[in-house]
Amino acid sequence: MASLLITANSLITSPADGPTRVLSPGYVRVEDGVIAEVGEGRPAGPPDVDLPTGVLAPGLVDLQVNGFFGYDMVDADEAGWHTVVSRLPETGVTSFLPTFITAPVRTQAEALRRARDLLPGLPAGTRVLGVHLEGPFLSEKRKGAHNAAHLTDPTPEAVAALLETGLVKLVTLAPERNGALDAVRTLTEAGVLVSVGHSDASAERVAAAADAGARMVTHIFNAQSGVHHREPGVAAQALVDPRLSPGLILDLHHVAPLVAELVFRAAGGRVVLVTDAASSAGMPPGTYELGGEPITMPEQGPPLRADGTLAGSGLRLDEAIGNAVRIGVGLADAVDAATRVPADLIGRPDLGRIAPGAAADLVWLGPDHRARTTWVGGQNVFEGGS
Ligand SMILES: [Zn+2]
Repeated sequence: MASLLITANSLITSPADGPTRVLSPGYVRVEDGVIAEVGEGRPAGPPDVDLPTGVLAPGLVDLQVNGFFGYDMVDADEAGWHTVVSRLPETGVTSFLPTFITAPVRTQAEALRRARDLLPGLPAGTRVLGVHLEGPFLSEKRKGAHNAAHLTDPTPEAVAALLETGLVKLVTLAPERNGALDAVRTLTEAGVLVSVGHSDASAERVAAAADAGARMVTHIFNAQSGVHHREPGVAAQALVDPRLSPGLILDLHHVAPLVAELVFRAAGGRVVLVTDAASSAGMPPGTYELGGEPITMPEQGPPLRADGTLAGSGLRLDEAIGNAVRIGVGLADAVDAATRVPADLIGRPDLGRIAPGAAADLVWLGPDHRARTTWVGGQNVFEGGS
C-alpha cells in the first residue's frame, strides 16, 4: 500500500463539519492517493516529507485555461496536451478545464472529439476535468477577443451537438440571446455548469438565468455590463446574488486592485480565481494564438489582439493567490477561491480540499505563494526545490 506522510509548517484544511482553516503546524497522511488523515501539531513517527516554511494547500483548480506554454488548447496536438498537462503542476494547478473560445459549433464539436480521443493517453500531471466552452453563444456588444462572425444563438440543435461527447463541464453564455434561458435549463439538467459572460444583460436577466440554473459569472467586470447605479448589469447581480460565483482574473490588470477587493468583500466565499491563461502564458514576449487567431504578449501585462483588446492573460493561479493576499484577502479565503469553491461548483467535492476522503492533490506554496512541490493523487508531479 502506497503511503505518504507530510508534515508542514502550515496547512490549510477544509473539514466537512466547518470552515476552511489553517493548522500551524499540521500534517497529512495519504494512503493510495487519497487523504486518510489530517491533523494539527506533529504526528507520531517520522514524516516522508517535511515542509519547513510556507503552507501546504490543496492542489489548485482552474476553470478557465485557454492555453499555456505556447499551446492553444482548442487546436493543440498530442504533444501540446502532454506539455500542458505535465507542466501545469509548476504553477500549483492539479486540475483544470481546458477552455475553447468562440468558433463555429461544428469546429468546437470536432475539437471536443479530438480532445476526448487524446485524454486517455495523457501522462501523469494535472487532471483534465472536462472542457469549458466560452462561446459561441455570446453578445456581439461584449465580444472582447472573440470573433463576432461566429457568435450565434444557443438553439437546441447547437447545444445537443456540443453535449454529444459528454466532455463539456462548463459553458459561458450571454443570457440575453434568443433561446438562452432554455439552453441554461438543458445544460444544467445535463450536469453542465452554466456561467454568464460576454454579456450585456440587465441584472434582471442574469437573475432569470440563475433561476434557470446558472451558477457562475465569467471573469467579473471584463466583457460584461457593470454596476451602473440606475442600470445594474451582470457584475452587479454577480456581486449580490448568493447563487452566483464570480470568476475573477486577479492579475491586477484585468480588474484594478480596489475593485478586486470590492469583489471579495461583496462576494466572500463565492469568488473563483481563474487565470484565463492564453497560450503565451509561461512563455517569453512574442506572438502567439488564441482561438486560432494571433495575439501579442508584451514585456509587461496581458496579451492583446492587434486592436488592443485584452486577449486572455499570462497569469499563474498560484500568483493570483499571492495577489489576493496582497490586496488584503486572508490566505485561507484566497486558497479557497482557487480550490474548494471551483471544485464544488463543478460537482467535484472529492477535489480542492485537504480533508479525509479527498484526492491527495496537494501543493506546497512557498512564502512568496509560488508552487514549490505539487502532488496529484499522492504522486509527486513537480519538484521545484526550496
Ligand atoms: Zn472571456
